[in-house]
Amino acid sequence: MIEKTGSDKKNIKKTKVPRTPMPQQDPKVRARNFQEVALGYTEEDALLEASRCIQCKKPRCIKGCPVEIDIKEFIELITEKKFEESLAKIREKNTLPAICGRVCPQEDQCEKECILGIKDEPVAIGRLERYVADRELKRLADEGKECVFLDGTHECTREPVAVIGSGPAGLTCAAELSKMGFKVTIFEALHKAGGVLVYGIPEFRLPKDIVQKEIDYLKSMDVDLKVNMVMGKILTLDDLFKDGFKAVFISTGAGLPYFMGIPGENLNGVYSANEYLTRSNLMKAYKFPECDTPIMKGENVAVVGGGNVAMDSARTAQRLGAKNVYLIYRRSEAEMPARNEEIEHAKEEGINLKILNNPVEIIGKDGWVDKIKVIKMELGEPDESGRRRPIPIKGSEYDIDIDVVIMAIGQGPNPLLISTIPGLELNSRGNIAADTETGKTSVKGVFAGGDIVTGAATVILAMGAGRKAAYSIDEYIRTGKW
Ligand SMILES: Cc1cc2nc3c(=O)[nH]c(=O)nc-3n(C[C@H](O)[C@H](O)[C@H](O)COP(=O)(O)OP(=O)(O)OC[C@H]3O[C@@H](n4cnc5c(N)ncnc54)[C@H](O)[C@@H]3O)c2cc1C
Ligand code: SF4
Repeated sequence: MIEKTGSDKKNIKKTKVPRTPMPQQDPKVRARNFQEVALGYTEEDALLEASRCIQCKKPRCIKGCPVEIDIKEFIELITEKKFEESLAKIREKNTLPAICGRVCPQEDQCEKECILGIKDEPVAIGRLERYVADRELKRLADEGKECVFLDGTHECTREPVAVIGSGPAGLTCAAELSKMGFKVTIFEALHKAGGVLVYGIPEFRLPKDIVQKEIDYLKSMDVDLKVNMVMGKILTLDDLFKDGFKAVFISTGAGLPYFMGIPGENLNGVYSANEYLTRSNLMKAYKFPECDTPIMKGENVAVVGGGNVAMDSARTAQRLGAKNVYLIYRRSEAEMPARNEEIEHAKEEGINLKILNNPVEIIGKDGWVDKIKVIKMELGEPDESGRRRPIPIKGSEYDIDIDVVIMAIGQGPNPLLISTIPGLELNSRGNIAADTETGKTSVKGVFAGGDIVTGAATVILAMGAGRKAAYSIDEYIRTGKW
């Protein structure tokens, strides 16, 4: 609930300017291409939107941001056309602004708290963040410059620290440690850094050149990035400590897909969302045979789930050329965990939402997927998650003709590394049990954060965990106290 301060509340009446819409590709056109859906503000749009901020005395928006960016200040700098200073203000707390401006669920965070939201629409904070970050990337590109941290003379001479996993948690922890002068090495299992940002979130929501530029910025901080390093197999934590690393931060994410356990999940044509999106995003399977990795395109595709991962899978299938994409979700649209914007975009692009439906079997023909049997559901009383419990309606089963199924019902922690660490405590879901403020685990010198601790969450929460862990790694190495 927003606490209304006298003067801030009075000021709300002054704003007559409606929220500036985001320019977008036409839904019919974009449903068949992989280019970015949201085109970004122009300078005029950004100035107009920034002018809506009433510069509250007690800015609630900052408290709504998990990393507490000084939103009020960065917006004021935009109104003064001090775009570089505005970006520097954001970067004090957030090292990946072009990414967060695109994928953070602002409607549940800073924008949810914005005082304008009481009588009107909140300031479009995420769009403004994206604008200043993109503007800087464009300026550097126009000048033919690389992204360079500080004055380019930054040197890391303090103790070596290892970071395992290069998603937003690992990248942020590495950046913060490097700023403090630690010699950081990131070990990444895949051939490219970025975690879900490169293998999960599709190009049309988060262009990979944007992610690469943000990673280049971090690399300019003297961080050493070692790819193709499946830790737990190639090296253990013991090896790292023996090699002289003083602390290790584990940020290996939640990359292990869940399945429903229904008959037919082993048929050809059934994918986990992770595999499907990795083939398409990271391995560029949509360019097969130009790229080596194939993908089943499918005429009729069923995606099971209602979160961002399900939306991304359905919209990817549509772009790969499917005639019908069914998104099968067992609750109603109101309970869908995906961002509202993503649900709206999916509907505009022609995705067929089959809400209050649940698969019970995948039916095959000659070893390949042929149909999916679903049962209709109704909603009962709220369950432990606070959402109304879906209940099957007896005898309501029916079949849908399909040739590809994508399971997007959640992911858990991959045990590959964590099972090799003696004494590492896990919680009941198999995630690492780590202190939420410090990232400390049950093993001395070992810290953890991001999805490997929280379970599948958000980019900004992973970044926040990486940042906090960096500070406590600094304290641990300085004091030796655990
Ligand atoms: C399809 C999809 C869409 C999403 N959309 C959004 C969104 O719109 N907004 C949002 O805020 N969040 C979104 N999320 C969630 C968000 O991406 C994650 O919460 C976030 O990426 C977690 O960051 P992380 O650093 O903990 O882990 P990850 O990003 O998962 O990175 C972990 C890294 O560790 C590496 N790794 C794993 N095991 C090993 C090992 N043994 N050795 C070395 N490296 C290893 C992995 O290869 C990976 O690169 C989405 C997630 C998915 C899957
Ligand atoms: S963004 Fe909203 S809450 Fe924050 S200072 Fe501006 S008007 Fe106030």
